[in-house]
Amino acid sequence: MITINEHYLKLQASYLFSDIAKRVAAFQEKNPEMEVIKLGIGDVTRALPQACVEALHEAVDEMARDASFRGYGPEQGYGFLREAIAENDFQSRGADIAADEIFVSDGAKCDTGNIQEIFSTDAKIAIPDPVYPVYLDTNVMAGRTGTFADGRYQGICYLDSTRENNFVPELPAEPVDLIYLCFPNNPTGSSITKEQLQKWVDYAHANKALILFDAAYEAFIRDESLPKSIYEVDGAKEVAIEFRSFSKNAGFTGTRCAFTVVPKECAAFDSKGGKHLIHPLWNRRHCTKFNGVSYPIQKAAAAVYSENGKAQIRELTDYYLKNAALIRKEITNLGFDSVGGDNSPYIWIDGQGRDSWEFFDMLLNKAGVVCTPGAGFGKCGQGYIRLSAFNSYENVEKAMARISDALK
Ligand code: PLP
Repeated sequence: MITINEHYLKLQASYLFSDIAKRVAAFQEKNPEMEVIKLGIGDVTRALPQACVEALHEAVDEMARDASFRGYGPEQGYGFLREAIAENDFQSRGADIAADEIFVSDGAKCDTGNIQEIFSTDAKIAIPDPVYPVYLDTNVMAGRTGTFADGRYQGICYLDSTRENNFVPELPAEPVDLIYLCFPNNPTGSSITKEQLQKWVDYAHANKALILFDAAYEAFIRDESLPKSIYEVDGAKEVAIEFRSFSKNAGFTGTRCAFTVVPKECAAFDSKGGKHLIHPLWNRRHCTKFNGVSYPIQKAAAAVYSENGKAQIRELTDYYLKNAALIRKEITNLGFDSVGGDNSPYIWIDGQGRDSWEFFDMLLNKAGVVCTPGAGFGKCGQGYIRLSAFNSYENVEKAMARISDALK
């Protein structure tokens, strides 16, 4: 008899985006003439940078000729991309990361979801609340949690991110083995300083723990004092793995390219306390289960690091940050407390005592604007909403004018 992995039965169905879609459809039916403006989702809206498009075209032409055609590439990614990443994203900022510590993949979602399988199932996990839901759900699937009760899974150490700690969680009060951190954060848009990150790295050293640092939104950091990479912090290479993506900096959400950094000295332990390097384990996993990102897409990703590519990416992220600044200004003028939007495309807004969904309904029904209810990202998200800067400036202007009119 074939039996299932019963841990899957513990998963809470995610109704967040389907509930949003249902409410939007109902509103649209009642108000067919109203143009609904979506500031809810985390998907980018602007076209790929020209430098990437040109590189993609050239690579497709190479694939069209026998002489330059390429079949399977190296599973870890082509050298031209890994070298460009190591040099531009890390070495140029004083982080000593080498090309062969970069593993190119088709998404930070897959990587943050897959990485946990190389660690033991009894590892104690710490996960921020609120946060990108993939970290939690993949650990539920792997059996590292108990059942779901009162809005939380048993056995997980939740790292509360609240106004009181400025949305940067405190170190855990109990010993943990695997720690997820995400900065700039989705959904709160909060960022972490080098000093705060250093405390986490020191904690990991002291407790033989490992940090999984998701830096998918690093391209939005404009405050030069903030770390873009955890490897800008002393001692991080031994205790941290970092995830990056071309999705939000270069609009690759539909094109798919990302990478994971596993430094050679990064280690974990066996049940007898013996030390094992993670790099060969992840390399083994990656090569066994993944066959590489396509050559044209890696060429397009490498173009991000060309002179034109760098300028175009800056322009792209500046555009979204201008939207974010407008959202933050208008929402502040209306008297709402918020965080994010300065080094992040997300603005996290306190509903002044309103339930997340009540706030969502109010914005939809009074202004025709779609946000994301904070409760969908964890218990601590209750009472908040997330507005996203991923839309056109004109739509953001229109949305904020409508919200101002409706709430004044
Ligand atoms: N990490 C975070 C924090 C995200 O918010 C997202 C997407 O929204 C991802 C990773 C997914 O990135 P990718 O498109 O590379 O899979």
